[in-house]
Amino acid sequence: MPKLTDRFGRTIDYLRLSVTDRCDLRCTYCMPEGFHDFETPDHWLSFDEIERVVAAFGRLGVSRVRLTGGEPLVRKGLPELAARLGELAEIDDLSLSTNAVQLARHAEALHAAGVRRLNVSLDTLDPARFAAITKGKLEKVIDGLMAAKAAGFAPIKINMVVMKGVNDDEVEAMVDFCLEHGFTLRFIETMPMGETGQAASDTYLDLREVRARLEQRFELLPGVMPGGGPARYVQVAGSDLKIGFITPISQHFCESCNRVRLSVDGTLYLCLGQEHHLGLREPLRAGVSDAGLEALIREAIELKPERHEFQDHPGQVVRFMSMTGG
Ligand code: SF4
Repeated sequence: MPKLTDRFGRTIDYLRLSVTDRCDLRCTYCMPEGFHDFETPDHWLSFDEIERVVAAFGRLGVSRVRLTGGEPLVRKGLPELAARLGELAEIDDLSLSTNAVQLARHAEALHAAGVRRLNVSLDTLDPARFAAITKGKLEKVIDGLMAAKAAGFAPIKINMVVMKGVNDDEVEAMVDFCLEHGFTLRFIETMPMGETGQAASDTYLDLREVRARLEQRFELLPGVMPGGGPARYVQVAGSDLKIGFITPISQHFCESCNRVRLSVDGTLYLCLGQEHHLGLREPLRAGVSDAGLEALIREAIELKPERHEFQDHPGQVVRFMSMTGG
């Protein structure tokens, strides 16, 4: 199987596929309230085009695909797309990142389509605080999580963006929630993505402080988790709970980066923290061959930067997290 290797010797085997830039929430650190400047539907890659691109990545050694957004469940027919991607021989790991607001309705169909692993964004267990951070209803997310458990998803990972003075007082409560429900917990540092992410930098909290706090209450053992992501895991002694720390600012993980992102309009972004990209929609609509598509992907990987510059140039990335997914 050929491999996609970038200029820094990193193997790219993981594609994060944003199927929409729209969302049914408005998280303060992601999409500005009242934002409406979304990609127009005629620019969205169709399911046929998405399948062609994913198949090309598959032939180049990519085996992991994560469905993201915005909020992927707002894209009509997502379970059908998942089933088509799940059929591709080269793709042996199909997962989904969601805010779970609509998960209760789609959990069974997604599981039947071959999605096995879920990451669910959940920054607080307080309904009023949830509404303040996301403009949404917490109960819908909890219903979605319980439906996912019932449908047999495993692991279900909870992604908590920890913000100083906003929700950092809930770290222990989130640990207890995950212990109770058998979820895996990941803490994430805020990132200066777009004006919203840059504004959220005021609430940035170095996760080493969170880990130190947890070590006062738990014995944390080195831990491992399946998946190709950047989290560094520990295990709570005497339990099955795994806790991951995603630390792009305090301890970046760019040296082992294995991923690229495809946005809803067919733009291939080579790094979350940079603007380097290559457009695939026009070549696709101009009738590019499969070999031509693979050549374009290889050309794009040559553009992949070594790392983000969030600290050196915090205002550099103008796009919001919702435009490519995290
Ligand atoms: S910031 Fe860029 S290089 Fe670093 S891990 Fe993320 S995508 Fe990879």
